[in-house]
Amino acid sequence: MRTRIITLLLLLLVTGVVTAQKKIPAPAEVFGFAPGEDRKLASWDQIVDYFKQLDGASDRVVFETLGNTTMGKPFVMATISSPANLARLEEFKKIQDQLADPRKLGPLATRDRKAAELMRQGKTVVLITCGIHSTEVGSYLSSTLIAHRLASSTDADVQKILDNTIVLLVPSLNPDGVDIVKNWYDKTLGTPFEGTDPPELYHKYTGHDNNRDWYAFTQVETQLTVDKIHNVWHPQIVHDIHQQGAFGSRLFLPPYMAPVEPNVPKAIVQGYTELGNWMAAEMRAKGFEGITTNSTYDAWTPARAYSHYHAGVRMLSETASARIASPMTLKFEELRSREGYDPQKESPQFGPVWRGGEWHLNDITKYMTTAAFLLLDHAATNREQWLRRFYAVGKEAVRPRRPGELFGFLIEPSKDFMSLIHILERGGVEFNSPKEGPTFKIGTREFPAGTVLVRMDQPYGAFAKTLLEVQHYPNLRDAEKHPIAPYDVTAHTLPLLMNVTVHPVKAPLRSGRPTPTLSGSIEGTNTSGPNRNLPAIYHSSVPSQDEGWTRWILDSQKISYGVLTDKELRAGITVYKPSAGVTVKYYTILIPDQPARTLLEGYRTGAMPPELTGGLGPEGVKGLRDFVETGGTLIFLNRASNFAIEQFKLPLRNVVAGLPRTDFYVPGSILRIKLDTSHPLTSGMPEETIAWAEDSPVFEVTNDPSATVPATNVRVIASYPADKDPLLSGWLLGGELLKGKAALVEVTMGKGRVILFGFRPQYRAQSLATYPLFFNALSLK
Ligand SMILES: [Zn+2]
Repeated sequence: MRTRIITLLLLLLVTGVVTAQKKIPAPAEVFGFAPGEDRKLASWDQIVDYFKQLDGASDRVVFETLGNTTMGKPFVMATISSPANLARLEEFKKIQDQLADPRKLGPLATRDRKAAELMRQGKTVVLITCGIHSTEVGSYLSSTLIAHRLASSTDADVQKILDNTIVLLVPSLNPDGVDIVKNWYDKTLGTPFEGTDPPELYHKYTGHDNNRDWYAFTQVETQLTVDKIHNVWHPQIVHDIHQQGAFGSRLFLPPYMAPVEPNVPKAIVQGYTELGNWMAAEMRAKGFEGITTNSTYDAWTPARAYSHYHAGVRMLSETASARIASPMTLKFEELRSREGYDPQKESPQFGPVWRGGEWHLNDITKYMTTAAFLLLDHAATNREQWLRRFYAVGKEAVRPRRPGELFGFLIEPSKDFMSLIHILERGGVEFNSPKEGPTFKIGTREFPAGTVLVRMDQPYGAFAKTLLEVQHYPNLRDAEKHPIAPYDVTAHTLPLLMNVTVHPVKAPLRSGRPTPTLSGSIEGTNTSGPNRNLPAIYHSSVPSQDEGWTRWILDSQKISYGVLTDKELRAGITVYKPSAGVTVKYYTILIPDQPARTLLEGYRTGAMPPELTGGLGPEGVKGLRDFVETGGTLIFLNRASNFAIEQFKLPLRNVVAGLPRTDFYVPGSILRIKLDTSHPLTSGMPEETIAWAEDSPVFEVTNDPSATVPATNVRVIASYPADKDPLLSGWLLGGELLKGKAALVEVTMGKGRVILFGFRPQYRAQSLATYPLFFNALSLK
């Protein structure tokens, strides 16, 4: 003991350090195992505890709780930099704020000079976000390894990072999921089900879709990240650490494959291309194998990329998964191609080849931490260049628009208009107050009081533009001229999704007084609905994101509902007791979007513990049929409609069933439908509206004699127009097949009815335009 103290004193004298730091704890000392060790996961409490100890021991780390998650856990962030930088965080925030919005630098003539001075002083702000997808466990574990090295290392390269960057580290964007996954993993450890995904959504409402909320901002975790990190710090680089499937490349890094959404600034594309290619080259030089760039993931939807519209590059990394924390062994022949590369062949998008073998959690954390430190190294070495790029994006954004260019959008007030306005406001977009706004005139046309003008010459005009305009997703073709299927959904036009009227306006605009800043507060619209019959939602053993979103919509509007499982539906469900002492009959059961086969069969036998397998099965089908025939209303959303057609033998055909993606594909697009407004389900709806179509069925009434009810029992409530292109925004392949076909039908069966939606009427809590159809269906008498 004594010798150690003497050595420490000597060391302090030698290095000239006057205040002794406490010993910096390693994650292993707090967890009892090293992150990356096989079959070991840390709980969220342990993660928070670790960061608290790090904060206490290190003068390079400031740890804070930003708010509470959906399930009440602390949502946290560590700010890591040199002690000198940490003492001046407010100054650096101010520099970021001015470079992000060059209008704040004063007169045009002197802006560049002032900006140059700020760029000399500023630091590269890097946000590292981990663990949004909770089964991708390497990510949140790596956050502790990254933090520990930054807090404890005396290496020159770490010192350079601390001096030149401010690292904002979010150990998990979804803390609730850390424990959901750990609890399931620990419970099944050593059983045949070790390494399986939990049989529940790892975010209470959105599951994997929590990474599709970066413009709708519906969830508290998204709101905290945007309000308290992005909008406060405007990071130049956002490193989002993920894991992909087990059988592809070992690591994906940007650049993203085509297409890039056209409102993403060119400088941002250059930024992630340069950084990603450099990181990939450095990792290859260090001996890492199986790295792909410019493949698999595109940069189309803003649902995943807030920073691309806020002057920061999004550096997605996707490391190959194991079985949660359990290792796996892969044969070379088992490696599978993804869009843009074949992991068995070297190519400009992939290499060097990884020959297969064991793949451990430790491999995952090694790829992740190596990539993260390379990224930080680039951010530190090229500090001024990152700040220059950041300023250039802001400067281009705020420049006055030339005659003939898009000047802005006028947004007319309407029912769900404030939902759209709130989104723009949260995304940092400026506009006149809808309450005391000016009146706008173009020529002789006067717009209604409360019309909002969103100008393009502002820092986040591009964010507004992408959400307000129609998407034209390009028709990409491979070498054989076959269509390339989009990676994700293709449309995000909020005026269509929310039934709000907008008008693009070319410069110059003649208006009363275009005030570019927001003044006054905005009140929310009251969206609570009328009293309804208590509906029940089917809760599959196999997690369904659409079910989660449905619960979120009902919870957020304080609408009560029951939940029915396979077990209850198999037993029959005429009367159900949602809470002690209350007996309520459900008149309505909603089956959320899920493949027909998953509904029927659930997890296959042996894949999960027996109580979770088997799906609805034949007994569940019978239970549901009895429910309808005795007077119930059964609502099927999107793909679930196929289950009803098949299992109830309805006189309907899904005309696009089984078609290859090269003939028909609708990956998530906004289509046009016409409504029969005489049906009570369409109450409050216009004659023409939208449908969010995503792997959706398309109905045709048949005269099949083997059907259980005659074709006359079918009433078409919505259909795709026969004489118009059904596509309004996004991408649709084989649109001709839809023309004149049904999108929403009612089939009477016995004393009850079945409602089939051939689309998602409450898509990710965004398609407010078709909410009335959804709510009307729930409250049909
Ligand atoms: Zn992920």
